[in-house]
Amino acid sequence: MSLKLDGKKLSLDIEEKLENYISINKLIAKRSPGLALIRIGEDPASGVYVKNKEKACSRVGIKSFIFHLEDTVSQKEVEKLIEKLNLDKNIDGMLLQLPIPKKLDEQSLISNINPEKDVDGLNEQNIGKLVKNEPAMRSCTPAGIVNLLRSHSIPIEGMKIVVIGRSLLVGKPLSLMLLNLNGTVTMTHSKTKNLNKLCREADILIAAAGKPNLIDSSFVKDGAVIIDVGIHRLKSSDKNKTRLCGDVLLEDVIPKVSAYTPVPGGVGPMTVTMLLVNTIFSWQKQFSLSSTLNDLLP
Ligand code: NAD
Repeated sequence: MSLKLDGKKLSLDIEEKLENYISINKLIAKRSPGLALIRIGEDPASGVYVKNKEKACSRVGIKSFIFHLEDTVSQKEVEKLIEKLNLDKNIDGMLLQLPIPKKLDEQSLISNINPEKDVDGLNEQNIGKLVKNEPAMRSCTPAGIVNLLRSHSIPIEGMKIVVIGRSLLVGKPLSLMLLNLNGTVTMTHSKTKNLNKLCREADILIAAAGKPNLIDSSFVKDGAVIIDVGIHRLKSSDKNKTRLCGDVLLEDVIPKVSAYTPVPGGVGPMTVTMLLVNTIFSWQKQFSLSSTLNDLLP
């Protein structure tokens, strides 16, 4: 029987710890942690993601501040807002909800975020520290995956790990985190040759290609652990309905693996939880609070 790595359950367990941590330490800090969420334009998926993050904040006691800007906003205006939030003493974390309108320079805006408040872990300073294996904000999806593996006592050290995808958001930082934990990591991408053969050698296979059902059982070694990062909304046979799936054809793969993440309810909830963790870390640092949550940061 393969083990379901239940991200939903783990995220609720971690949230409970976070809520306790905040309620105890609020007395010392004399304010709640604060997270600013910047959304630009009307992308409907972004609206859902921001709402989910706002709800998660309120569950644990983080104060969220939403800045919804029109898509006509200029680069300068967004920079000004980021600068203001960088200086705001009630804001511990800040994120720019992606995607943003194409006319804006996303990377330059992210670079303007104070690294100490960069809870998405996407600016150069935090990525540089990840490369050097120094403590810093870690990007949320990869950090969530590492926590999911660790909490189920799945060994990383010495394991052959194949990551499919090399994006700045998932594949690259995840590969680095696993390398820092002494995994033997192969990062693959759309130009990789013999992907199927490489994947079949993996003890842990992580699919973050953004291609629905790309990975079937022919890619998977018997007894491997499979992590599905992809998330896609597809039309179901009933035209009015949609269904979610990942990059992995789960029903085909589950009988062959020792553990797997479901979609939904696997990696997704952990991403949001790690955003809360990062915000609390920044708050903890600012007020020199006890560091009992440090083991949550890979
Ligand atoms: P991306 O499009 O930026 O990157 C995809 C990567 O996959 C690229 O490096 C590309 O080279 C590689 N790739 C594409 N097709 C491939 C193929 N056929 N074989 C091998 N490699 C291939 O996407 P991303 O931002 O990294 O996200 C990947 C997926 O993860 C998407 O489905 C996204 O929605 C999902 N995602 C989920 C969460 C979550 O919280 N669950 C968070 C972030 C991203």
